[in-house]
Amino acid sequence: MKSREINKTWTVSAEQESPIHKVGMVLQPGHFEDYDPFLFLAEDWFQRGVFDFHPHRGMETVTYIIEGILEHSDNHGGAGRLNPGDTQWMTAGRGIIHKEDPAIGETVHSLQLWLNLPAAKKMTETRYQDLQSANMPLREEPGAKVRVFSGTSGGVTATTLNHVPVTMVEITLEPGATISQDLPGSYNGFIYVLEGRGVFGAKETEGKKNQVLWTNPTGDNEESEITITAIEPLKLVLFAGQPLHEPIVAYGPFVMNTEQEIRQAYADFRSGKFN
Ligand code: FE
Repeated sequence: MKSREINKTWTVSAEQESPIHKVGMVLQPGHFEDYDPFLFLAEDWFQRGVFDFHPHRGMETVTYIIEGILEHSDNHGGAGRLNPGDTQWMTAGRGIIHKEDPAIGETVHSLQLWLNLPAAKKMTETRYQDLQSANMPLREEPGAKVRVFSGTSGGVTATTLNHVPVTMVEITLEPGATISQDLPGSYNGFIYVLEGRGVFGAKETEGKKNQVLWTNPTGDNEESEITITAIEPLKLVLFAGQPLHEPIVAYGPFVMNTEQEIRQAYADFRSGKFN
């Protein structure tokens, strides 16, 4: 098993976008080749009215709730409610129009990842997977809890459906505890620290709250792992996924492979084909 190292770290700083919305970019948009299959990841603090009805095509959103209660509804009659620790895995596919609003009186603090879809799956059917924290498989080791939202961790595997293979785990560690997360060597991956401080990877890179720790693929056709040790009580999310190596043309909420497909997405949206 190849031991992964941290290749890059950075710190996320949030800015007030409006009186009811603060946002920090965990993965900045525009680095599509570097972050493949991830498009970007935003950390948001928001009240009702920030994410009113808007369309998506050609991608998935993965929304992890840190605090607050988030309600969502869409133009196909879908609706749901997410509590802290829950994750929504939404496949936009051919097209969806939805809104994401905190429950009345709530401020939601969340992470939203935009995940690319392979060319062959961009027009797939829309799909929601509401992943409730309490129902997710839990891997327990001394001083460590790993909640598996997608993929696998130490033989504990989620049933979440993936178009692109992605591992998503939430890890909590007591000070001094160590855990190793197994990953295919081909995956790009990153950790975002939500609470505390620890050391990460083969070079024992230090990381703390609001920091991102990025790990490059080690090589195809090999297994790898990233080792994490807590210095202070540590809580983090880890995402890793199989790069697609396909061209990306992204405009607003549409993520396709060509300019023509983007024009088609706008035309379809305007003519009501998302309904
Ligand atoms: Fe959305």
